[in-house]
Amino acid sequence: MPRLYFDANATAPPHPAAVEAVRRAMAEDWANPTSTHREGQRARYLIEEARREIAASLGVAPGELVFCASATEALHLLLRGLQPALGDRPAAVFPGEHSACLNPLRDWARVAWLPEVPADCATVVQMAASNETGLLYDMPPVLDALRIRDAVQAWGKVAVDLADCDAAVFSGHKMGGPRGAALLWMRPGLPWEAVMEGPQERRRRGGTEDLPAILGLAAAVRHLAERQALNAALAPLREAFEAEVTAWGRDIEVIGRGAARLPNTSCILFRGRNGEALHAALDLAGFAVSTGSACHSGSVKPSHAITSLGYGLEDARSVLRFSMLPDAQPGEVEALAAALKRLA
Ligand code: PLP
Repeated sequence: MPRLYFDANATAPPHPAAVEAVRRAMAEDWANPTSTHREGQRARYLIEEARREIAASLGVAPGELVFCASATEALHLLLRGLQPALGDRPAAVFPGEHSACLNPLRDWARVAWLPEVPADCATVVQMAASNETGLLYDMPPVLDALRIRDAVQAWGKVAVDLADCDAAVFSGHKMGGPRGAALLWMRPGLPWEAVMEGPQERRRRGGTEDLPAILGLAAAVRHLAERQALNAALAPLREAFEAEVTAWGRDIEVIGRGAARLPNTSCILFRGRNGEALHAALDLAGFAVSTGSACHSGSVKPSHAITSLGYGLEDARSVLRFSMLPDAQPGEVEALAAALKRLA
């Protein structure tokens, strides 16, 4: 049997249209977009067309988008760039936030954990969807604080609404785009200053733009509505999988079951089992799954996203995450359930 991949939240394969756009740009449009000759001007034109197309899909102005290489970079540029103006006041942050977001907050005077919102709070950081549990989160209602959204896991899986935020980040490699392409969106007028200097991206992010990755991202965005529909259609398949797995015993629990979640994600606690060992056994049996966020895999450090929900360290070590690709088939999910039943 071919290997089966249930780790879409770590990375999803690029859409064929994105692969073709990247290939073509690498072969034909490799000029530097900052160059003023005709080749450079064509590269610049292609980047700006891609920016316009992506901005229209997100419902924002093209000039508000900054192309970055990863969402990790976008979060660092955003939070480090806000820190000089706002960092001496507290940030109110969702405790299950990705480390890409928590790390650049280290320079801030104080991080309060939501739902606590200090009176003098400068910014609220709330991911749209958890990479580990798939749980969906609204932006808390706040006055006079800048609202930041990590939309990485939501993009292409559920609708993303930017109406209640002031800045957001997106990543290409989770939604059918290539790696090397990500977005930082900021409303105009934020008290932000560039931390990576250079003339590119209107002086907001120095470094020659990765034109192939950007064009690959634009190609993936053209298929975003289709991807979101495919993901929505996974919900019954995911429910059937969870119903089967939880029927094996009371020590098996779906984290976040019953709450609004990404339709492709199941985060399951196999109480008393070693998650790493189960992960390795499934890998040997031909199934790629995750023990938590990809950044924690390979390390035995229990996931803070799970412990912040009130689970103990032992439970956090017993969790597996299954995240389906948009084209997951019922037979593949049944094969996964059968292997799990044998190994768990
Ligand atoms: N935010 C969330 C919620 C994520 O899941 C990830 C990646 O797993 C990131 C940020 C970082 O994205 P990137 O891989 O583009 O740096």
